[in-house]
Amino acid sequence: MSRKARKDRKDKNQTLRFFASIARHKHFEQYHMAEKPKSYCEAVEQYDSSNVHRMYHDSKYGFRIEEDDKLFELLILEIFQAGLSWTTILNKRENFNHAFHCFDISKVAAYQEEDRQRLLNDAGIIRNRLKIDAAIHNANVVLQLKREFGSFGKWLDQNHPRSKQEWVKLFKQTFKFTGGEIVNEFLMSCGYLPGAHIEDCPVYKDAIKSNPPWFKNPAFIGNF
Ligand SMILES: [Zn+2]
Repeated sequence: MSRKARKDRKDKNQTLRFFASIARHKHFEQYHMAEKPKSYCEAVEQYDSSNVHRMYHDSKYGFRIEEDDKLFELLILEIFQAGLSWTTILNKRENFNHAFHCFDISKVAAYQEEDRQRLLNDAGIIRNRLKIDAAIHNANVVLQLKREFGSFGKWLDQNHPRSKQEWVKLFKQTFKFTGGEIVNEFLMSCGYLPGAHIEDCPVYKDAIKSNPPWFKNPAFIGNF
């Protein structure tokens, strides 16, 4: 291995460790563990395969998402998580899917006052007026992006790669209710930013096989 390749690998590992250390950090608040886990990967090791975190970590987190409705679902779930734990969201995920017509972007974009009231009265989801309004507003924004760029995914691809700060700026200009943490988790979860898994995690290789966009730009990793 050349000196440059070794340096690139070292930079990449440092970046991955840095991101993994901040990923899903809010979970840890509720763990009451003697020693705080260093990453989400480590934190989920204690759970069996039927746990919501294990299922999410093992098959979704950091994996590329192709379908626009699934990308939209992830963005909206990240928005609803703000101020709450990811555990709450994972436990309510089915309810959210039911309440939001499986995150069909066109359907959510067409929601009227009646739907707003229905969602505000749905105890199965998070009844927060600002978040519900943001979900409906953002569905309309994504619909517009689909018209302009062909798909939500293509809009993301067109803007990739970017630093986290640049992404946050772009999301804030484009969507409602998209602060730094929401944007970071969204992009890490669907593979536009690195760091969902530490390299030692058994799922790291599976996530890479799904072809996450961050992995296609190794030069970018060292320059974060
Ligand atoms: Zn992992």
